Amino acid sequence: MIVAERKSIPELLDMLPNDSKILVLGCGTCVTVCLAGGEREVSIISSALRIASKARGLGYEVSELTIERQCDNVFIEQAIEAIEKVDVVLSLGCGAGVQAIAERFLKKPVYAGLNTKFLGILEERGVWTEKCSQCGSCVLHEYGGICPVTRCAKHLLNGPCGGSREDRCEVRPDRPCAWQLIYHRLKNIGQLERLEKIEPPKQWSASLSGGPRVIIREDHRI
Ligand code: SF4
Ligand code: SF4
Repeated sequence: MIVAERKSIPELLDMLPNDSKILVLGCGTCVTVCLAGGEREVSIISSALRIASKARGLGYEVSELTIERQCDNVFIEQAIEAIEKVDVVLSLGCGAGVQAIAERFLKKPVYAGLNTKFLGILEERGVWTEKCSQCGSCVLHEYGGICPVTRCAKHLLNGPCGGSREDRCEVRPDRPCAWQLIYHRLKNIGQLERLEKIEPPKQWSASLSGGPRVIIREDHRI
């Protein structure tokens, strides 16, 4: 899932214009699961904005709505009426959701209420960790399903670096060494021989380094 974090209330107050009707727009998918931008967070942020507005005389008129997915035009339809009634939208979607709303409503200011962080999973209660940097050319099969591009702090495709202590990463001692994990995983699945191969340099043109990426499925175009 896409993992995001809420911006602080002081940040939101700096961003939002005074004397405006604001729609706090949540998203019911990834950011709901990571407790950043779902219905519950929409309610919490809306209440905080109302309280701040009253206390500081900011003149906010705050309304709330959560749709299933902000990054999908089919679901954005459900927000049209609410968006048309307000001056600005405070989106609690990920960066893609915010931009999808801004592209759809050309004359409506749309503000990002979240900081979109990474693609990851819930590792344990209250802890989300990054698992994929979306490099565009997946090599997980070479590493037993553990991504060295993302989970090794030095992004080594031919590791380890030799700096780990116990099972901890030299750069991030709070995280396990990805190469230790890769070793144990390959051992468990009987593929340790993969480590004898030297991986060639990765093709980074498929990553964001090659510019914004587009996928075109000709078989789905009319
Ligand atoms: S190799 Fe690339 S696509 Fe695959 S998990 Fe790692 S970053 Fe993601
Ligand atoms: S200690 Fe392990 S995870 Fe950390 S940089 Fe070195 S090889 Fe990568």
